[in-house]
Parts: sequence; C-alpha cells; structure tokens
Amino acid sequence: MDRKQFIKSMALLPLTTSAMTLKELENMGKAFGPSQRMPVLFLGHGSPMNAIEENEFVTGFRNVAKQIPKPQAILCISAHWETRGTYVTGLQSPPTIHDFGGFPKALFEVQYPASGSPELAKMTQEIVKSTSVGIDQQWGFDHGAWSVVKHLYPKADVPMIQMSIDYTKDARYHYALAKELSSLRNKGVLIIGSGNMVHNLRMISWEHMNTDNYAFDWTLEASSKMRKWILEGNHEELISYAKQGRPFQLAIPTPEHYFPLMYVLGLKDKADKVALFNDKAVAGSLTMTSVSLHA
Ligand code: ZN
Repeated sequence: MDRKQFIKSMALLPLTTSAMTLKELENMGKAFGPSQRMPVLFLGHGSPMNAIEENEFVTGFRNVAKQIPKPQAILCISAHWETRGTYVTGLQSPPTIHDFGGFPKALFEVQYPASGSPELAKMTQEIVKSTSVGIDQQWGFDHGAWSVVKHLYPKADVPMIQMSIDYTKDARYHYALAKELSSLRNKGVLIIGSGNMVHNLRMISWEHMNTDNYAFDWTLEASSKMRKWILEGNHEELISYAKQGRPFQLAIPTPEHYFPLMYVLGLKDKADKVALFNDKAVAGSLTMTSVSLHA
C-alpha cells in the first residue's frame, strides 16, 4: 500500500480509531503490511523449568520456529492470563512476570525483553466485533508466553502481545472468538495458544518426572482421542470435551490449559495442514503435545 492509498483507507476506518495519532496509524500500516498467510501454533508449555532446561521439548520449539516465516509480531493466548471479559496487553515494554513459586532462583532471573505492540493491541480490539476487547496497561508476559517463546525467538526481537482468556465463557465461545482473529494471519502475526491438552497437576507422578513419555492409562486414552480429532479436523468432539467421559474429566480438571487449543483450532482454514510435535506425556498426567497449522 502506498502512502496515498493508506491515507485513503484511513478515512474508512471506524470512528473509534480517531484518538490515534496519524503517526500511530502510519506505523500500524507499516508494521502490519500484507504477508503470506502465517501459521498458527499450539504450544504445550509444561513445567516452567522448560524455560531454562535443555530437553527435547525445547528442541521442538526451536525447530518449529525454523520452519515458519519470521513473524512481524506475536499474539499469544496463554493459560496463565484469565480475566472476566477479554483483554489484550497494551504496554510498549511489558515486564516478565514470574507467576509461580518454589522454583530455582535462576528461573526467577529470566527476563524476556521483547517489546509489546500497542498497535497490534489496537488492531485486535478493532477486528473483534462479538465482544468488546479491553486494552490492559498492567499485564506483561506470563510464563505461559515467555517460557516457550524465548526458545522460538531467543533474541526477543519479535514484538508480542497477549490476549486473555475470559474464564466466564466456554470452549465454544473461545473457538468462535478465534475466528475473528483470522485476518491477523495475513498481516505477519503469529498467533500462539500456550497451554497443555492434558494437564492434571494434582496427579503428577513426581517419581516418573524423568521417565520418557510416562503416561497414565486415562492420559493415553484422552490424548489419543485428542490427537485423532485434531488430525481429522473433528473439532466438534474437542469443543464438547466435557461430554467425553472420565479420561477427559481427569485430563481437563479445569479448562484454562485446554482453552488455548480452542483458539488454534478455531483459526484453522480448510487449506491448512495440521502437524503435531512434542507429542509426549510427562510424569503421568501432563502432555506436551503441540500443534502447528500451515497454510
Ligand atoms: Zn501452565
């Protein structure tokens, strides 16, 4: 888009953008120009220790970043930011939030200094029509975002915002809301859902923490159904997770780590190819299974 076209298109923008300065709008146009259709990722984040350990999951995160175009910005939906209503982070320099306890000092010392993107926050607010998206000026990057994204982009040179999960809503709502974000994929924005498909911390088998791919029977059952339905594109069964019996009840005792998957599935186009990676269980009751959608 040249300057003239851009100024012309500005006249068509809704009135709510009128508070933005001309410079901000120009920056938005520059930063989020047309791109090839970006992939979408669901990342199983697991233990916060993955932020500082070397293991196969970390390698998986690094590899996936090498396989996709470098984004102009990231929008991350993390299991660790739940709110009433939907918000996006609006800070230009978001703090790294250490939202956990009982871990080594080295983990508390990790900083992920990527910049925020108030422009992308405003753009997200504009494109979502079904609800009013608030712009939050306090939240930074929680570990659901930084503990994984630091492996994808270790130089912290891709601006990132987070979008919160409205805890008053159900899976179907999140799946539908995701579809409204679809146009961001054409503007160089990488959308990441960060959670865990099977996530039952109460049942973690600590003695099997380092046993390769250790899964309880119900984990295997829930996980293999999830895998099958994701690969088949049978999203209805996944949205209806609460009706899938005991293995799913144990796999998803609370939905906040599962809902980021709803965003990723909601963003799937017919043309997208679906691939799984990091497809292993940890300590019995957690799966690291991650998903990529490629146009
Ligand atoms: Zn988590």
